[in-house]
Amino acid sequence: MPIDTVLSTDNFVDWNQLPESAIQVPTKDGFRFCVWEFLMHPLAISVNANLKDIRKIPVRLKISTGNYILQTHKASFSKNNYISPTCKLCGKADETVEHFILLCEKLEETRIPLLSKILDNGSLILAKVATSFPIDLIQLIINPFCYVDINANRAVFEETSNILEPLCRQLLYNMHNKRYALLANIDKQGSRKSNF
Ligand SMILES: [Zn+2]
Repeated sequence: MPIDTVLSTDNFVDWNQLPESAIQVPTKDGFRFCVWEFLMHPLAISVNANLKDIRKIPVRLKISTGNYILQTHKASFSKNNYISPTCKLCGKADETVEHFILLCEKLEETRIPLLSKILDNGSLILAKVATSFPIDLIQLIINPFCYVDINANRAVFEETSNILEPLCRQLLYNMHNKRYALLANIDKQGSRKSNF
């Protein structure tokens, strides 16, 4: 099974056809099926397995499996009470994954240094793989392994694993922390105002 099928669709899945490493991940309309290509998917493997890196894995996996809750998810879950999908940080657009990772201006300072490293290294590494399809930046950040076939090019797979994936993981971890810090600040200001 190629590595880019790690996130399968919500379509009907015959469990007998899946390898033992398949797991179910709950989503708002049931379950999404994830198939781990290896004993552990490379996204979850920390190259330098120290505590600092291990802490980043849950955020990284939540984002790559579509389980990281943004404002648009909250809005689509809410039934009785209205929740706006608009980004609470900038208030300028719906908080989608693309907005959070690539566009929100309030996260720009956190994003730019790592994003430029991802672009530099990503273009160098992926240039070695003959691809006839365009590389989607958001997809690259969410799962850089989707463009690399371990069987076709082991060296590129290892570079992705050792260089590109840690950068993407670091970016998402930093963005997550910055977003939470900003949201906490907004909540604090909100409760201060409501005390007057
Ligand atoms: Zn925003």
